[in-house]
Amino acid sequence: MRAALLSGEGDSRTLVVGEIDVPEPGPGEALVRVLMSGICGSDVHFVHHDWARTAFRPIVLGHEAVGLVERHGPGASDPAPGTRVSIHPVVACGSCACCNAARTQICAHRQVLGMDRHGAFADFIVVPAANLVPVPDSLDSTLAAIATDAVATAFHAARRGGVGPGRRVAVWGCGGLGLQAVGVVRALGASEIIAVDPRPDARSRAQETGADVACSPEDAAELLRLEGADVALEFAGTAEAAAAAVRGLTDGGRAVLVGAGPGALDGGSLTAFVMREREVVGSYGSSIDELAEVLAMLADGRLRLPHAIGDVLALEDVALGVDRVRDGALDGGRIVVDIEKGSP
Ligand SMILES: [Zn+2]
Ligand SMILES: [Zn+2]
Repeated sequence: MRAALLSGEGDSRTLVVGEIDVPEPGPGEALVRVLMSGICGSDVHFVHHDWARTAFRPIVLGHEAVGLVERHGPGASDPAPGTRVSIHPVVACGSCACCNAARTQICAHRQVLGMDRHGAFADFIVVPAANLVPVPDSLDSTLAAIATDAVATAFHAARRGGVGPGRRVAVWGCGGLGLQAVGVVRALGASEIIAVDPRPDARSRAQETGADVACSPEDAAELLRLEGADVALEFAGTAEAAAAAVRGLTDGGRAVLVGAGPGALDGGSLTAFVMREREVVGSYGSSIDELAEVLAMLADGRLRLPHAIGDVLALEDVALGVDRVRDGALDGGRIVVDIEKGSP
């Protein structure tokens, strides 16, 4: 089968499409024929940044996928072969303290597709059958692919922040995940959404996705100094944006850090945290139940993401797509690889 493999070290890392054997599903696992697989900012880090490393190389990248169940390994039978499924990207152990507390996304022994085990920029992928969520018929496969990470991660972050009616929410960084977060926050009934991004085109897409106000980080700092946000969702992953998100909270507000990067948090004085009961929490990925909820919301129109998909490429062009994501040329949303496009 064809697969996009990340190989090499440092500056000599390459992402190249080659031929490898179709994997064999083990006990409890399923073989899935991949239809679509989204390119995530994490893929840019794995290909271009030394601080982000996959568990081994060569490794098949790709962790935002939808496909058709091909067949099962021993002991698995559900969902039935032929079912169109979104693939939850985190394989949890099911028995650690976090898994027992229903927080499988931070499982102590978790394996993420395309990071700790082979991913979905390939004709086939093997995953535990428990990671497969059937896709409603009315939902487009491109959206069902990016729902697994870009949308479900935003949904989980909004939940972590307690987003809901009556809440004033600031979304910092309106790229691949933050833009979807604006739509999620709208769907969850927030009373006001302030989208923050230095890029004018990102701001206009955020407004078209449901933001009431879209402004630059400088203008946001000014605006939030007058009246802070109840919830700040931070997707930019820079130390500056995280600090600004925390400083832009109202008394009792909560900042949710989602964007990961090499920086550290400087959120202001201890007094501001203590006397104003400000909270800062991290948010990673999503649960399988949250993915199912996101798919249902997208399918029935409660969640509208008009700019979620930027472009669709063939597997042969995946390295090109990763570079486009790095360069910020997203055309508004995710670049999705159509695995069957251009296949022999
Ligand atoms: Zn991702
Ligand atoms: Zn676990």
